[in-house]
Amino acid sequence: KLYNQVQDLKGNIRVYCRVRPFLPGQLCSSTVCSIDDGNISIITPSKYSKEAQRTFSFNKVFGPSASQAEVFSDTQPLIRSVLDGYNVCIFAYGQTGSGKTFTMSGPKDLNEQSQGVNYRALSDLFFLSEQRRDMFCYEIAVQMIEIYNEQVRDLLVSDGLNKRLEIRNNSQNRLNVPSANLVPVSSTSDVIELMNIGQKNRAVGATALNDRSSRSHSCLTVHVQGRDMTSGAVLRGCMHLVDLAGSERVDKSEVTGERLKEAQHINKSLSALGDVIAALAQKSSHVPYRNSKLTQLLQDSLGGQAKTLMFVHISPEMDAIGETISTLKFAERVS
Ligand code: ADP
Ligand code: MG
Repeated sequence: KLYNQVQDLKGNIRVYCRVRPFLPGQLCSSTVCSIDDGNISIITPSKYSKEAQRTFSFNKVFGPSASQAEVFSDTQPLIRSVLDGYNVCIFAYGQTGSGKTFTMSGPKDLNEQSQGVNYRALSDLFFLSEQRRDMFCYEIAVQMIEIYNEQVRDLLVSDGLNKRLEIRNNSQNRLNVPSANLVPVSSTSDVIELMNIGQKNRAVGATALNDRSSRSHSCLTVHVQGRDMTSGAVLRGCMHLVDLAGSERVDKSEVTGERLKEAQHINKSLSALGDVIAALAQKSSHVPYRNSKLTQLLQDSLGGQAKTLMFVHISPEMDAIGETISTLKFAERVS
């Protein structure tokens, strides 16, 4: 196994923190005091803590000036292990506006440099599978789905957006959502085309007032099958690249109806995810996968031999400090 070095004492779970830079036109002082390798210190107003500052430790912390390429280079070994038959899950967690979509997909005005983890991961898989062409024959295919209000939808369709899909674990063909489109890909231009379709379909569900994409989880799943040219043995690996719904708490006194229902679903599924990862990190004998669609979907890629990476995102503004602290606490619990 060539790329099986991605392990540390905690096993197969890693947590990286990324701090978004201030956006153009924002003039403020940051809540982040210092970043030093895996440690981040933030200012904590007296409302949140007796101390003026608190330090959190992760596998790595990326400051506001970290480039997409830098962030990806630390992720690369994990992605490469998919070719060796490992299952991998990469999550982007954080409040709305903290940079989840930027990390996974990139900004709206995309170019080669600003491409996120999704595109880089696939282009790396293409590159490596080409390099190993004499030994292995690889087939790569993707699915893209969305979980909204605990309902699963296919994002790679040209119509019929409202069809609800079932999750089936341990299915024969190893697809957890067998009825979602599975599209073979062989080049980065295939990937760009599919991501555009997925993006468009996410937007279709958005109402005029609210950006729905921040209230659903989207998951790009990459299925890799490699046949050993000499022995004929087949290796299968899969990778889930997940842009989670915004983790912000909504004030129950201020929202009602549809918005409250959404918030409750998000809350429930993010807690279920936290519970699963925390159980795995603590090597607990019971891992509560059944509590949400998200954890059911990812079950075979969380725990066991699978490798998990959580990017937790924080916004640097003082306004966001409450959410920043709760994000860092969530991350601390799962790391
Ligand atoms: P989220 O998906 O968490 O709601 P976004 O990824 O949409 O957040 O980021 C919010 C805004 O901040 C976007 O305009 C995005 O382009 C910008 N942004 C986020 N992270 C970065 C970064 N690391 N560098 C530059 N701009 C960023
Ligand atoms: Mg987003």
